[in-house]
This record gives sequence, structure tokens and C-alpha cells, in this order.
Amino acid sequence: MSTSATPEALETFRRETGEWLDANAPESLRGRGDDPLNGVWGGRRWEFRLPDEKLWLERMAEKGWTAPQWPREYGGGGLSGAEEKVLRQELKARRMPAPLIGFGLTMIGPTLLQFGNEEQKREHLPRVCRGEIRWCQGYSEPGAGSDLASLQTRAEDDGDHFVVTGTKVWTSYADQSDWIFALVRTRHEGARQEGITFLLIDMASPGVSVSPIRLISGSSPFCETHFDAVRVPKRNVVNGVNGGWTVAKALLGHERSMIADAFGASSGGSGRRKTLPQLAREYLPGSDGRIGDAVLRDEIARNEMDTRALMLTVQRSRDAARAGHQPGPESSLFKVYATELNQRRYDLLVRLMGPQGLGWEGPGFAESELRTTREWLRSRGNTIEGGTSEVQRNIIAKRVLGLPD
Ligand SMILES: Cc1cc2nc3c(=O)[nH]c(=O)nc-3n(C[C@H](O)[C@H](O)[C@H](O)COP(=O)(O)OP(=O)(O)OC[C@H]3O[C@@H](n4cnc5c(N)ncnc54)[C@H](O)[C@@H]3O)c2cc1C
Repeated sequence: MSTSATPEALETFRRETGEWLDANAPESLRGRGDDPLNGVWGGRRWEFRLPDEKLWLERMAEKGWTAPQWPREYGGGGLSGAEEKVLRQELKARRMPAPLIGFGLTMIGPTLLQFGNEEQKREHLPRVCRGEIRWCQGYSEPGAGSDLASLQTRAEDDGDHFVVTGTKVWTSYADQSDWIFALVRTRHEGARQEGITFLLIDMASPGVSVSPIRLISGSSPFCETHFDAVRVPKRNVVNGVNGGWTVAKALLGHERSMIADAFGASSGGSGRRKTLPQLAREYLPGSDGRIGDAVLRDEIARNEMDTRALMLTVQRSRDAARAGHQPGPESSLFKVYATELNQRRYDLLVRLMGPQGLGWEGPGFAESELRTTREWLRSRGNTIEGGTSEVQRNIIAKRVLGLPD
């Protein structure tokens, strides 16, 4: 169906989609909703928590609906923007979780669709859609975070291969990933940005090793990733040698949109998790079913309104993306707003739960709001990952508002 599908054709699509979902969406997953951190990430090492999660992934992948808008020849569903919206609505109506999440779908996939050659798309995209390969991001280095262009991991020319040596840091889920998309230095003279290459590296290659970094929140989602003379075929270069900076920036746009999207969706309450007002009514019951504390009531109302406004704006940007618009510098606006909003939300949660929010582990912990302390600590990283708020404000000043340096 094309983007200019008639309302009648779209209604037929809605009916057929609903029928298919009623027949194929496992009952046991209904009501689980989307959880940006706790969904199915896939990959060779993935262990499904429920057999139905595997079934749901296989059925949706078979339809191409893990990546509904990607072309069918690369494992996607070939849906138009309008159809994808219908699919999302029908999933939401049945409170079904996304069958698959992760950086393959949200970061490297859209980037390969834009910059990859035919061979790269055919090799990597179907495996992403089926959840077979999990990807991680090798951008930051000990001396190159905000100032990414100063990265030093080097790739030396060796015929039909590059030999990669260096260290990446803060690589989220490197210890659970199968492939990494990495920025490497291929030229040392001239403008720093013009000596960077975007390389796809199999984590099983000899010379790749990872060491997890422990976070204050207790879990250890990220690692140091070491490359010790790792041989990488040159066919894994995306957009040509020294052409990586353009790819890197485009991917960051996808990353920032993904972060804003995830926090926008989860702050509205997801799956079995309760919303902020629901929790506030439970922990601080007042008269007439209102939240007992007037000051907190006001702050929570503001937070709710800001969340709704963000979700609508993100929705508008999603619609633009469906119409073929690549995320531009405005993704920095969403990133700053969504992550700061998420931090405000956790500050409020901690305040309203008081000592009852100090749980760390124990029965029922993972499924409930009791993990608030850990999540409050984890939310501190939101305004750093994907580019810090200060750096996003610089981008907004320069590229959105056109202010001078
Ligand atoms: C939870 C989490 C997950 C992450 N996952 C990944 C990942 O998977 N892969 C990956 O490659 N990286 C990842 N990162 C790293 C992240 O991209 C970097 O931490 C981030 O870009 C900041 O770099 P830095 O830590 O080196 O801080 P620095 O760049 O050293 O910044 C330090 C401080 O200086 C400020 N600052 C720096 N430059 C400027 C400037 N020009 N103007 C104003 N202020 C400035 C910053 O805002 C910050 O407050 C992750 C980080 C976190 C927290």
C-alpha cells in the first residue's frame, strides 16, 4: 500500500491487522506494554524470559513487523507510514509489547538504510529484523566523549583489511552484543572529522575483548571495549574510507530520537507499571481521591502536562519520519527535554515514596516501583548518554537558532 492509500484501504488494513493480532498475539504477553529497557533485545546470547516472547518475535519477524517500515527485501514489512501508525495503534489497543527492541532497529538499521551499500543491507538488516544479532555502539573513548572528533582508535590499512587497535569506553551492552558499529581513525593529518571511518566489526573477531564497568545503580550495562590488532574486512566500511563523520552524525540523530521516544513513552506509564499520579494517590492519599500533598499535586500535574506535550511533539516528529524526513538537529531538542523530564519524574517519585522508595532488592522488586532508587540513580546518566545536555544546547544554539559561536 502506498502513502496515498485511501481511507477505505487503510480501514481494510486495520481490520486485517486486528484479526491477525487476535489470532497470533500470545495471551500471556497482553498487558505487558513496552518497556524501553526490559524488552527483548535479541542476539546470539539472548535468553527469553518467557517462551511466548520467542513465539511473538518469530511471528512478528515472519510478517516483517519487527521493522514495519523497512523494505521487504531486507526483512521489514514494507508498510507505509500510515499503515505503521495503524499497526502501532492496534498493538497498543491490545496492550502488546514490541516484539524486539535494541540498537539494531533504532540506530544501525536506519543508518545502513541511508548509507549502507546493497551487500551490507542484505547481510545485516534481515538478521536485525529476526533478532539474531545484537549491536552495540563504539563511539566514545577515554579521551573523546563530547569532543568525539578527537578519537584515537586507529585502523591501519592492510590490503583488503583494516587492523584496528584502541579502546572504546561506556559501550552499552558490549558484553552481550554480537557486532559493534565503531568510529576509527584512518587519517591523522588534516581536519580531524575528515580522518574518521565508520566500521562494522564482528565482536567474535580475534583481538576484541570487553570489561564491564559497574554503575552506582548496581547493574552493569556498559563496558570498556578493547581492540588489539583486530582484522576487519574493508567491505565493512560504511560510506567510504574517511567518510564516517557524516554517518556518525546521522546515527546520533537516530539515537537522540530513540532516547526521547523511549522516555516519552515510559514516563506515560508503560505495561504493568503505574503512572506517577497513580503512585502519588497510593502513597499520599488525600480526600476525594486527590493527591494529599498540595505542593506535590501541583508538581505532578505540571510533570503530566509536560509529558503529554512531549509525547505529542514526538508523535509529530514520528509522523515526519514516516513521511521520509531524517531526524535533524531538532532531535537535540527532544533529547534534552525528554531526559530532563525523566529526571524530574524520578525526583518526584523518590520524594513521594519517602523511605518506602529505598528498596534495593528482594521479593517483587523487579516488577514494581520498589526499584525506584536504582532507576533514580540510573536516570542521572540520561542527560549524558547520546551527548550531554550542555552539548545538545550548543547544537540547538548553533544549528536550530542560528546563533554565532
Ligand atoms: C548511560 C550511558 C550510556 C552510554 N552508552 C554509550 C555507548 O553505548 N557507546 C558510546 O560510544 N558511548 C556511550 N556513552 C558515552 C556518552 O556518549 C559520553 O559519556 C558523552 O558523550 C559525554 O562524554 P564524556 O563522558 O567523555 O564527558 P566529557 O565530554 O568529558 O564532558 C564532561 C563535561 O563537560 C561538558 N562539556 C564538554 N564539552 C562541552 C562544550 N563544548 N560545551 C559545554 N560543555 C561541555 C559536558 O557537558 C560534561 O558535563 C554512554 C554514556 C552513558 C552515561
